[in-house]
Amino acid sequence: MQVVEVLIEYAKSSLNRPFSYFYNGNKKLKKGIRVLLDFNHRDIIGYVVKVEETNKSIDQYEEEKGFSISEIKDVIDDEPLLNEELLSLLDEVSSYYLVPKISVLQSMLPPSLSPKKTSLKAPKIAYDQYLEVINDDESDLTNKQIELLRLIKNDGRILKRDVKSPSIIEKLLEKQRIKIVKEEKRRLKIPDYKYSAPPKLSDDQNKVIDEFNNSNDLVYLLEGVTGSGKTEVYLSLSEQVLKQGKSVLMLVPEISLTPMMVEYFLHRFQNNVAILHSELTPAEKYDEYRKINHGDCKVVVGVRSAIFAPLRNIGLIILDEEHTESYKQDNLPFYHAREVAIMRAKYNNAKVLLASATPSLESRARGQKGVYHMLYLNKRINNQKLPTTKIVNMLDYKNIDRDSYIFSHALRDALHITLAREEQAILLINRRGFSTHVTCRNCGHVFKCPTCGIALTYHKRDNMLKCHHCDYVEPMQEICPDCGSSYLMKTGFGTEKIEEEVKRLFPSAKTLRLDSDSAKNRNKIPETIEAFRKKEANVLIGTQMIAKGHDFPDVTLVGIVLADIGLSMPSYRSNERAFQLITQAIGRSGRKDKPGTAIIQTYLPSHYAITFAARQDYELFYRKEMEMRKLQFYPPYAYLASVTLRAKNEENLIENTYQVVDFLNDEFGDEGQILGPSTPYVPYDMGYHLRNILVKYRDPNKAHQILEKMQQLFAYNSQYELLINIDPYNF
Ligand code: ADP
Ligand code: ZN
Ligand code: ZN
Repeated sequence: MQVVEVLIEYAKSSLNRPFSYFYNGNKKLKKGIRVLLDFNHRDIIGYVVKVEETNKSIDQYEEEKGFSISEIKDVIDDEPLLNEELLSLLDEVSSYYLVPKISVLQSMLPPSLSPKKTSLKAPKIAYDQYLEVINDDESDLTNKQIELLRLIKNDGRILKRDVKSPSIIEKLLEKQRIKIVKEEKRRLKIPDYKYSAPPKLSDDQNKVIDEFNNSNDLVYLLEGVTGSGKTEVYLSLSEQVLKQGKSVLMLVPEISLTPMMVEYFLHRFQNNVAILHSELTPAEKYDEYRKINHGDCKVVVGVRSAIFAPLRNIGLIILDEEHTESYKQDNLPFYHAREVAIMRAKYNNAKVLLASATPSLESRARGQKGVYHMLYLNKRINNQKLPTTKIVNMLDYKNIDRDSYIFSHALRDALHITLAREEQAILLINRRGFSTHVTCRNCGHVFKCPTCGIALTYHKRDNMLKCHHCDYVEPMQEICPDCGSSYLMKTGFGTEKIEEEVKRLFPSAKTLRLDSDSAKNRNKIPETIEAFRKKEANVLIGTQMIAKGHDFPDVTLVGIVLADIGLSMPSYRSNERAFQLITQAIGRSGRKDKPGTAIIQTYLPSHYAITFAARQDYELFYRKEMEMRKLQFYPPYAYLASVTLRAKNEENLIENTYQVVDFLNDEFGDEGQILGPSTPYVPYDMGYHLRNILVKYRDPNKAHQILEKMQQLFAYNSQYELLINIDPYNF
C-alpha cells in the first residue's frame, strides 16, 4: 500500500500540518497531485506532499505510528500540478510569510486546479476539432464528397464546425479519406495583433538598457518620471530575453486599468503572450495556465497572482508601477509580488526590474543602499515639460467659487478654458459615491455598516447606502431608525457629487465616471477608458483608478478636487500614498504635444506630501519622508509584522490578545517594539471581533524565530484565530 501525507483545504491556520492517508489502488501516487478525501464526514480535497511505499498492513502501520489513518477516496490528477521550482517556491513563501502552505497553493493555482472542493466542478479542457486528409483517392466518392475532400486538401485542415454538412463528413470518415484531429482550444479571445516594430529608442532609454545588460545584479529599480518611456524599455529588454530562449513575466497593477500595456505586449510578441488577471473566467484562466505550463507562451502579462505563473526558465520579471499596493495581498497568504519575484529570480538566475515614477520608500531605500541597482529616466520623451501645477488653499474663502463650495476659482476657470479649447480634463477625488456620511441631526445617529462598523456612504444614482469596506448595501432611509426624525444630513462628497457639480456648472460638458462602482460590471472600465481616449467625453471623473499609467494624449488639465483625503488615514504610509497618488495623477496631464496644467485643491497647502508632489519632485519627498520614518521607527528603518486575533467572544479575545502581547514583549525585549492591542479601523469581520498587535523590529531573522514560536504556542487554539501578516501595509 501507499501512504501519503496531504495538505487539506481548510482556512484555519491551525491546520498547517499534513495529514496521513493510505491508498490501495493500482495507480502510482506522486508528490504534487490532488486526491479526494473524507474529513469528518465531508468530502474534501487533499494535496499530496509526500508518498511512502510500505509492505505493512494498515493495522501494523497504525499500531506502529500510534494513530489511525483512513483511505483515499479517489485520485484526481495523474501528473503533478506544480513543477520543481514552484514546489520549492511554495515552501519558501509559506515559511517567509509564516502562512499555511495550503493558502499559498490556493494562490498559486488557477481556481479550476486549486485544492478546493469547488474545483471538482471546474472547467475541462475545450477542444477544437479539425479535419485532415489521410487519403486523397477520389474513386467511389460522390461529387459533393470530392468537393469537400479537395477543400480540406487545399486548406491543409479545416475546422469541423465550419463545414455545413455533417453527413458528408461522416461518409468521408467512413471511407477513411479524412480524420479528425483534436486540438486544445484557447477560450480567451484575443484579437489578432499585427507586429509593430519598436520606435527608435531615445539616448536615455538606450543608456538604461545598456546599464541593465552590463550588470550582473539581481534587482533593478528604474525610477522614471511619468511619460519617460518606461514601457519601451520593458519591451526591448523582453525581446532580448526571448531571443536568449528564456521567458518573461510582466506584472501590472490591474489589467483593466492598463489595457495599453497588454496591447503593447501583444503587438510586439503576439501569440507568445498569455494573459492572467482576475477578470478572466475560470475556463479562460485554465486555458492560459495550461498554455504557459506547456511552454506555448513565453511571455506572461498579468496581475499580482501571475507571479506564480508556471513559466519555466524565466529570464526577466518586471513589476510596472512597483509602488502599487495591490502587489501586496492583504489576506492569506499575505504575500508581496516583489518578494516572490526575487525568490523566483534567484532560482531561475533571472533579473527583476522594478519601475515607477514614484517608487515605494522601501525599494528606493534599498536602491540607496545598493541592494537594488538604481536606473533613472529623468526626462519625458522628446523633452516634453512636466505640467505646470498650482496649489489652491481651500481654507481661504477668497479662493473658493461662491457658486460651488467644491470648486475653487482656479479649477473652475481652468476647466472652462480646457473645454473651450476642446481639450480634455481629468478630475480626481479619491472617494466614490455621493456623500460620505449620513447622520441624524436630531439624535446624532450615524448610519454604519452592521458587519464592519464603518460609516456608510450615500450613493445617489441607486439611492443606496453602501459600505466601502465590505459588500454591504441597504436602501437609503427617510427617517432615523433610532428616533424617527426625518432630519437626515448628508456630508462629504465623492465622485458622484463631483460629476453632478460639473454638469451643473458646465451644462455642455460630456462627463464619464470611473470608480469601483463602475468596476462592478466586467467591461465597464475598459469601455470607459476607450470612450475617453476616443474623446466621446471631455471630462473624466474618478478615484485613484484614473491616476494609473494611462496615456491620454489630449488631457491638458488634471484637477485634484481634494488632495487631503488619504492623508488623514491612520497609516504610516499615508504621506507616501498621497504623494504617489497626486504625482501619478498630475502625470496624466500634457503627455503629447500640448502643455499640461494641474490644480491641487487642499486644506493642507503646506504639507510636504502635497508641495513636493506639486513640484513633481520625488527625490525631495523621499528624503523628507525618510526622516519622518526614522523618527517614528517605521519601514524602511524598521520591519513590521502584524498579528491579528479574531474571535466571536470579545472578552476572551481581549484576554488572549494580552497574553500574546506579553509573550512578544518578553521575547523581543529591547529588540522590538510591540504596539497594541488595538481595535482596527474596521473593527468587525462577519460577526467576529478583531484585535491587532503591531510588532516593529530591526532583525528579521530573529523576529521570524519569535513569531514562529508565537504561532506554535498560540495559533492552535479553538477560541480564536491568529493571523500573522509580515510587512503589512495598513498600519
Ligand atoms: P511612462 O510609462 O514612463 O509613463 P510611456 O512608456 O507611456 O511612459 O511613454 C510615454 C509616451 O512616449 C508613449 O506615448 C510612448 O509611445 C512614447 N514613446 C516611448 N518611447 C518612445 C521612443 N523611443 N520614441 C518615440 N516615442 C516613444
Ligand atoms: Zn435620530
Ligand atoms: Zn462593511
